[in-house]
Amino acid sequence: MQLLRRGDHGNAVAEIRAMLRRFGPVADGTDPEDFDSDLEDAVRAFQQQRGLISDGIVGPSTYRALRDAGWTLGDRMLALMISAPMTGDDVVALQERLSELGYDPGRPAGVFDEQTEHALRRFQREYGLVPDGLCGPATLRSLRQLGRKVTGGRPHLMREQELLRQAGPRLRGKRIVVDPGHGGPDRGVVSAGIAEADLMWDLARRLVGRMSATGMDAMLSRREDTCPSEPDRAEFANRAGADLVLSLHTDADRSMYAHGLATFHFGNGTGATSTVGEALAGLIQRELLIRTAMQDCRTQGRTWELLRLTRMPAVRVEVGYLSNMGDLRRLMDSAFRDVVAEGILVAVKRLYLLGQDDQPTGTFTFGDVLARELERDEAKVV
Ligand SMILES: [Zn+2]
Repeated sequence: MQLLRRGDHGNAVAEIRAMLRRFGPVADGTDPEDFDSDLEDAVRAFQQQRGLISDGIVGPSTYRALRDAGWTLGDRMLALMISAPMTGDDVVALQERLSELGYDPGRPAGVFDEQTEHALRRFQREYGLVPDGLCGPATLRSLRQLGRKVTGGRPHLMREQELLRQAGPRLRGKRIVVDPGHGGPDRGVVSAGIAEADLMWDLARRLVGRMSATGMDAMLSRREDTCPSEPDRAEFANRAGADLVLSLHTDADRSMYAHGLATFHFGNGTGATSTVGEALAGLIQRELLIRTAMQDCRTQGRTWELLRLTRMPAVRVEVGYLSNMGDLRRLMDSAFRDVVAEGILVAVKRLYLLGQDDQPTGTFTFGDVLARELERDEAKVV
């Protein structure tokens, strides 16, 4: 679709204005077909609320979010569509309802996928309904009549925490998908002849090498010469049954002064947050800030495809801005990339230690991590 931004004019603008009205008042301006500053403010407010990049521009993800936000449970029949999965706030409501009743439809990300259908069929079977996996009037009635069985917030996201606790402190055997951004024909940000795709490929290789040395089952989401779509990368991690996904990118900005490090986890801005994802993002942020002295651009919740469609905690790291000379110079230095890889590995180790480590942030080394893994082996033998 064509991007719509301030200054644009036409039917599509009036449509966006009408869609936004459902979430709050939007001034009419002189002409509803004019993309004026009031409409831009309304777009920004909506983007912020939904965990999107709040640039005031309506592109594919904002348009999708606007459409998704318009659905209320009961508006339409919900079913599994393999080629074009149904998405929307009504799917979120169904997923949350199933979770409350003790079923596991996966992350309440608003995508009616196989796991959601599986949970729905189980519910239907156990409540004497036709187990057809369709959410129509009869199923809805039953869903509404029943009291909640699980209390205390977002059951799927709590399950993530429980899995983490059960996983134990050792890295050995944990399956990690490392996702270098872009690749192949998609170079990502290119600055002074240096491409994000190549830098992140190199960083991913350094990270995977270290992870493998600790006994982790680390996998790359792509080859050097390929660029899978974001949903394909998520699907790869889901199929691999990964414990965690780490996506590596660098940022760019029109301003050459923008610089620093940011980490992102799944969070939809209305309270559904992957707590484990947020914890890992925070650990990576802290380790890397102290090791690199980069500017702190914070840890934030987002609904980007990879974060939304993965079933396990996922974190995207934006390692600096290639549009900034300082960040670019650092990223070009292989010793710096080693520091980043080590910091990320240590953050993963800390996640599995569940905060039960006393070593101050930034001081844990790759050697320490290896030694700890061996220590545990010996402890087990004794
Ligand atoms: Zn990127």
